[in-house]
Amino acid sequence: MSSPDSDAVENVVICGSGPAGLTAALYAARANLKPLVLEGMQPGGQLTITTEVENYPGFVDGIQGPELMDVMKRQVERFGTRFAFDMVQSCELDKGPFVLHTENGQTIRTKTLIIATGATAKYLGLPNELRLQGHGVSACATCDGFFFRGVEIAVVGGGDSAAEEAAFLTRFADKVHLIIRRDVLRASKIMQKRVFDNPKIVIHWNTEVADVLGEKEVEGIRVRDRTNGEETDWNHIKGLFLAIGHKPNSEPFVKWLKADSVGYLVGEPGTSKTEIPGVFVAGDIQDSVYRQAVTAAGSGCMAAIDAERYLEAVEAGD
Ligand code: NAP
Repeated sequence: MSSPDSDAVENVVICGSGPAGLTAALYAARANLKPLVLEGMQPGGQLTITTEVENYPGFVDGIQGPELMDVMKRQVERFGTRFAFDMVQSCELDKGPFVLHTENGQTIRTKTLIIATGATAKYLGLPNELRLQGHGVSACATCDGFFFRGVEIAVVGGGDSAAEEAAFLTRFADKVHLIIRRDVLRASKIMQKRVFDNPKIVIHWNTEVADVLGEKEVEGIRVRDRTNGEETDWNHIKGLFLAIGHKPNSEPFVKWLKADSVGYLVGEPGTSKTEIPGVFVAGDIQDSVYRQAVTAAGSGCMAAIDAERYLEAVEAGD
């Protein structure tokens, strides 16, 4: 790992090292821009906390999430990308070169910035939830649903994501228990109908998960009835999916860039551009809808190409 030099002005700094950040780095490095990647506090991003990935093209038999990110990183390193185990704490984007202040106390100047800091799935904060993550606890039905064929599973949440994921999971699971903390769904009417009409989905109102049970994998969940506080162990549940929302990691940037009410950065549609020329967005930080590794990678490619063209135009005096 090389350290950034505070006097130098970088061509491209990429914040984030998930599929969006690494793909941006791959394209920028191959365009000879010598990018610097600030890896963030979870190098490799969300895929490093999942197990098998079967929907990333190119891997006939699937690949483990951490291995996929390792392979991507090694591919990127071949072309001379520099990595720093660091993340942006605050920044000044009012004029170029942009100035980034990092957690490790570095000040970095750069002509272009690609923000690919991703989003973090919200978890409930249960005692055994993170320990069993990837072993029956998941926050991504699209990624992990396939592994729950013929069993009973639970989904927590009452929004569109929970409704969509519960419906999707009925393709695999025998029964999907939808656990709702209130007595109403937040989901849109059309998604609610999809849930109500699905005979494999059982809704439990005024209910919450108190803990996840199991040593090496999920062997049940402890459920609390919110009306009387009574707790019951449901040993028939073999998987727990959380769909209680995501938090975009946009905090250092929202002072400068347009964001929606949740904090997702809003780029120019169909491009990776933001309202600040030279600042680009890629991956989940700007995508609350698809949130897939392959869509993130695609948008990382777009950001690098947009940054390269921007630098060319500036150099040409356009
Ligand atoms: P969301 O709309 O914020 O819903 C989160 C759900 O999780 C709510 O039902 C909330 O309960 C529940 N929840 C939050 N914290 C909880 C906790 N600690 N314990 C138990 N339950 C908890 O999030 P989302 O469903 O991920 O959707 C995010 C955005 O993406 C929305 O705008 C949504 O419309 C959009 N989206 C759209 C589609 C689609 O159109 N197909 C699909 C997915 C997402 P309360 O209701 O009690 O607060």
